[in-house]
Amino acid sequence: MCNIQCNYCKRDINKSENRPGVSASVLKPIESLEVLRTALKKMPQIKVVGIAGPGEPLANPNTFETFRLVHEEFPHLIKCVASNGLLLAEKVDELKKVGVSTVTVTINAVDPEVASKIYAFVIYKNKTLTGTDGAKLLLEKQMEGVEKASAAGMLVKINTVLIPEINSDEIEKISLEAAKRGAVIHNIIPLIPIYLFKYMPKPTAEQLNKARSISLKYLPQFRVCKQCRADAMGVPGLEKCLSCTQDKLGSVYFHG
Ligand code: SF4
Repeated sequence: MCNIQCNYCKRDINKSENRPGVSASVLKPIESLEVLRTALKKMPQIKVVGIAGPGEPLANPNTFETFRLVHEEFPHLIKCVASNGLLLAEKVDELKKVGVSTVTVTINAVDPEVASKIYAFVIYKNKTLTGTDGAKLLLEKQMEGVEKASAAGMLVKINTVLIPEINSDEIEKISLEAAKRGAVIHNIIPLIPIYLFKYMPKPTAEQLNKARSISLKYLPQFRVCKQCRADAMGVPGLEKCLSCTQDKLGSVYFHG
């Protein structure tokens, strides 16, 4: 479930696709704890446990229950959540209570006109907003969330999906406005053309590098993102040894 619709997102439950928004299953909080215990036995180097969908974690009460259980048993692990930011400002205190210290917010524009081309709708307080109305609210809430989470001592990473035909000119403004509000790093990732954007061109390596060098004026760049599944598990470079446990995975991810 998600409270917005990005035109590049098709959430799915399967074991084959390797992209964000996909997992082998959706786990209940107690099941997530079981999977984590198994993962830590196999790979004690794991330091981070996160929730990144499929769907919007902050719109699902199970997210908070999962973190509460994990934090109780594994207080030393870093807990992180990836969000579209719509509900972040109002959920910061609850996230802190269950041990979350790192947040990723996906911000794809600062101009509502540009954002209205990326988001089909935004559902807020049971009201569905479209066009620039929905986009304007989402962008305001995202920046408010970045500011509030940073002020609460959380590490805030910004993800931006680079969609060459739509938001290339927004990169500098996103980076500047997020840095002003306390974000610490920017992860610019290439569009994976699916769903309503399936005919859109992917960014070239040059376009990606150009966007990263523009953003580097305001924020350090995260360059090792693999755009993993929502149930990815492992330490970058050591993934292979964990692939055999794929069938036990679900909607939590862990990495070193
Ligand atoms: S916020 Fe995430 S889960 Fe929701 S539509 Fe966008 S990409 Fe998909």
